[in-house]
Amino acid sequence: SQSGKDTPANSGKIKKRIGVLTSGGDAQGMNAAVRAVVRMALARNCQAYLIHEGYQGLVDGGDKIKNASWNDVKGFLTLGGTLIGTARCAEFREPKGRRIAAKHLVKNGIDALVVIGGDGSLTGADTLRKEWPDHIKQLLADGDITQGEASKYQTLMIVGIVGSIDNDLASTDMTIGSSSALARICESVDAIQSTATSHKRAFVVEVMGRHCGWLALNAAICTGADYVFIPESPPEEEDWETTMCDSLKRSRSAGKRTSLIIVAEGAIDAKTNPIRTEYIKEILATRLGYDTRVTILGHVQRGGAPTSMDRYLGTLQGAEAVEAILRATPDTPSPVIGMLEHKITTQPLKEAIELTKEVAKAIEDHNFSRAAQLRPKSFLTQLDAYREIAYYSPEGVNALPHDKRLRIGIVHVGAPAGGMNTATRSVVRLCVNRGHTALGIHNGFPGLMRGEIEVLDWLSVDTWTVMGGSMLGTNRDQPDPQLGAMAYQLQKYEIDALVIIGGFEGYTGLLSLTRHRKEYPAFNIPMVLIPATISNNVPGTDFSLGSETAINVICNSCDAIKQSASSSRKRVFIIEVHGGYSGYLAMLGGLSGGATTVYTPEDGITLDRLYRDVTHMRQHYEKESGHSQGRVVLINEKASKLYTTEMVAKIYDAESRGFYGCHSSILGHLQQGGVPSPSDRVRANTLAVSTIDWIQERCWEGMEIPNEDNVRLPQTQLKRKYRQRVYTPATETSAVIGFIGSKIKFTPTEELVNDTDFEKRKPKSQWWYPIRNLIDVVSGLGYNYYTG
Ligand code: ATP
Repeated sequence: SQSGKDTPANSGKIKKRIGVLTSGGDAQGMNAAVRAVVRMALARNCQAYLIHEGYQGLVDGGDKIKNASWNDVKGFLTLGGTLIGTARCAEFREPKGRRIAAKHLVKNGIDALVVIGGDGSLTGADTLRKEWPDHIKQLLADGDITQGEASKYQTLMIVGIVGSIDNDLASTDMTIGSSSALARICESVDAIQSTATSHKRAFVVEVMGRHCGWLALNAAICTGADYVFIPESPPEEEDWETTMCDSLKRSRSAGKRTSLIIVAEGAIDAKTNPIRTEYIKEILATRLGYDTRVTILGHVQRGGAPTSMDRYLGTLQGAEAVEAILRATPDTPSPVIGMLEHKITTQPLKEAIELTKEVAKAIEDHNFSRAAQLRPKSFLTQLDAYREIAYYSPEGVNALPHDKRLRIGIVHVGAPAGGMNTATRSVVRLCVNRGHTALGIHNGFPGLMRGEIEVLDWLSVDTWTVMGGSMLGTNRDQPDPQLGAMAYQLQKYEIDALVIIGGFEGYTGLLSLTRHRKEYPAFNIPMVLIPATISNNVPGTDFSLGSETAINVICNSCDAIKQSASSSRKRVFIIEVHGGYSGYLAMLGGLSGGATTVYTPEDGITLDRLYRDVTHMRQHYEKESGHSQGRVVLINEKASKLYTTEMVAKIYDAESRGFYGCHSSILGHLQQGGVPSPSDRVRANTLAVSTIDWIQERCWEGMEIPNEDNVRLPQTQLKRKYRQRVYTPATETSAVIGFIGSKIKFTPTEELVNDTDFEKRKPKSQWWYPIRNLIDVVSGLGYNYYTG
């Protein structure tokens, strides 16, 4: 409906008057949060206010505090930085300054405040709330506010949203801006790597993070860096320089042409002396003779368009901030909106800040294990995993005794997806370092059938972290017609375990191998599917590799297409996206790409819905005069058999009554390509480590008695000679690994059958489905449509 878009009141009384400001350092995605706060406020019958220049705007008052309408935040979603400005405000640090701020809030009638910023900004907000009754008393005594105002504004509701590229707030997995900063780092370092390889150079790259190594560690994982220094985990050895040089030398001896070292700006040694990039350069140049360059990325990391993740996070958190205000009573402690286990959370602000300050304190006190423990759970495991994958140490600490070494096959199945190669690289490197043999199977199940198998060594996969597509070659074919031939090859190559990296076909293929274990003994080995498909439709996981990469492509395409329409002509684009019968890509792409609405197979398309949407679109343009950006509508490829993309576009066009023109565009295979997103790379790494650990245990349990003649063989040997085969008939030795909430879980393949819709090729339950309501709320399209 049109009512409630420019003004809050659909009917009746305004529930709350909510101000929003951004403070401290800017972060990509802050704008998405501001937009969501304003629009959700209006949708929930509240008044919204934009407070410009952070706390300075509150202290200055006047035109820095503005009543916000729906269109005031139009176009915010796609832009980096903060469009309402941010500032460091010394006056707000003093009670006097905060009192002036309180006066301006009262005079503008604002009774709730959403603060988007780092821990300093949130501390300031909490202080203001605590002092509020005193400020009101004093303002009344000084005659600055009336008795009526004093009685009306007895409490101020505060909600915090963390905008910080460092990802440094304890108690949330992700802060707004961190995903985009990581993306900027990866783009830069990926670029540096190619020139470094040409010249056999070493590069020392400094990234932001004074007290928090999240950016540095994740950048190191994503870019396949050779070494990393972070504040929470200083090198244990006093002579860390020698350890570093030895490690780099080993990698070079394996054939690497470059060395890449990532350093957090707050990196320190065990005595808390800073580890500086220039010093590392000097060490590499003098001790190893490497031609070494230093790059300090600096503010590049804060810049650029927000990633789909930051838009998603900002939007969900902004919307939740408004809901939290409406739920709160005067006694509710100020909450901070976070994200844990992929779900939006609200937690007491004070505790979150105290916990964050504890990290800095722990580092200061040299209590590094405590500092790392205070980070999200995954941090320490990621650090260990990174080190194991990055360092080359085939006969080093992790090498297993010969009778425990395995021969692990890796195959890609289905369409290509970002992160397939990254996962393969991590699996191979873990294998090599532990003494296993990694066997790359080319061209999917048919390749296995034909015996297209080769040993992959540490160096052969070196550059695969950043490679899109499938370096092994992938294929959709199922194993069924050729099970015998596949069993033969598995036996011939003495494969002890199979890692399948792929999508729904990978899952059905795995199921079929498992179900034929009785006929073919060779299938009685541990088998795991690492879900990798842009459609995110594999049962047993919340996320599959490649889906975030594809969402980024959709999001960027929406930006570009909207821009192409920012001419005098008014245009609507109907953009078709992949996903099969799963609306995940359309939904998440739509939310982060700012689509006006999204058509998914889950909801289907009805004539009623089309009528509503087209009418709404026309009214949008009828009211808008002059320049206008284009609008996009996303449609999943299988949203409706009858209303195809072309037909929907024709209907939008025919019903526009001349107020706009409508075009359609099919993104197609663009969505399967591209450099894997940082998240997809990190997830690939995490899954690879758990997969190898799981395989080892299952294999060792299922090993038959070892032979007497334990012959030592080179790593690239193609036959196992020193022990008997692995035989694991138990159901649980065939599994899908996945992220379920914050946990990594192996679910037996057979157990997933009940939750699978085989006809539609997707899980029956999908965690992301409820966010469909939010798209229509933030786009202004009938926010009462679903909820009634
Ligand atoms: P970043 O992570 O980018 O540094 P931040 O929010 O921590 O973000 P700060 O510079 O610490 O950035 O804080 C921003 C503003 O918040 C300050 O300029 C000040 O106005 C206010 N502020 C910070 N700390 C306090 C405090 N303890 N009491 C009152 N106001 C504060």
